[in-house]
Amino acid sequence: MSQSLLEKAKTLEPRYPNKSTKLFGGKSSGILNWNDIAYPHWYKMYKKLVGNYWQADEVNMSSDVRQFPTLTRDEQDAYLKIIGLLSTLDAPQTRTALLISLYATDPSVQSIMAVIAQQEAVHNESYSYVLSSVVSLAEQNESFDLGRKDPVLLKRNDAIMKHYNAFSKEPTIENLLKTMVYTALLEGMFFYSGFAFFYNLARHNKMVGTSTMVSYINRDELEHGRFISELFRATLAENPEHNNEEFIEWVYSAFKQSVDLEIEWSTYVLQNVSGIDMEEMKGYVKYRANKMLRMMGLSEIYPDHVDNPMKWIRAYVDVRYVYQVSAA
Ligand code: ZN
Ligand code: ZN
Repeated sequence: MSQSLLEKAKTLEPRYPNKSTKLFGGKSSGILNWNDIAYPHWYKMYKKLVGNYWQADEVNMSSDVRQFPTLTRDEQDAYLKIIGLLSTLDAPQTRTALLISLYATDPSVQSIMAVIAQQEAVHNESYSYVLSSVVSLAEQNESFDLGRKDPVLLKRNDAIMKHYNAFSKEPTIENLLKTMVYTALLEGMFFYSGFAFFYNLARHNKMVGTSTMVSYINRDELEHGRFISELFRATLAENPEHNNEEFIEWVYSAFKQSVDLEIEWSTYVLQNVSGIDMEEMKGYVKYRANKMLRMMGLSEIYPDHVDNPMKWIRAYVDVRYVYQVSAA
């Protein structure tokens, strides 16, 4: 199917209306009145995102600095590998949020994606910040090089890379929708085995500063996942010719493949870490995949994993609780 390329939105075009006519490929002047937008409830999402504002150096790392050398070799290794992984997700996400906003012909989407891009930039900074607190520059660089060198990580990121780059090169509606699917996977599933590792350390009273930072990131990613699911559903509804069996089957197969790769990666990085039950972890990955599919208006594909098998994680996503632990 040959498809026309989306045009970048005009920066300011007084002949077009302020309220957008379509999310992508529509007309909008570039002027934003939040009280008159095409999808009014997105204002709340914007307020929620902005309300989550935080900065990396607000988190006190002094106890983590003392504790890092006392972690087991396997824990240290997983810590560095997982920070390396997280950085390979947040870095492209900063740019993908910007790319989506450049093609969005709805000024509310442009603003929301700008906030998301800013938060991804903070997430990236936070990885540099925590690593610089606990290891030498040489070890920091080694961790940040994993995304370019570790074969399991490269394999795991291959499909995201392919689809993100395809949208960058060829901005069609189809490539945009596929990028949104991988964004939903990234925001709603790919991060979470990494998050679980840090919460597991925190529940054993280890590296609580890092875990507090991760809980801030986690809170942001949940909101990003929520918005991108909304944007996906609305874009699909506005472009019904793409809402066909072939595309929806593609979404399900992208989810299945991503779940398999996520399980392979998390087994590789977490199997020697004590306190994490790998069967629970696999269930958690499938639970997250189901949850994202539901939010995107699709069906669950893992009927045995509709409930969270790692309920203890919930407490750590709530930032206030982590603070209590850290104060104790
Ligand atoms: Zn992020
Ligand atoms: Zn995000």
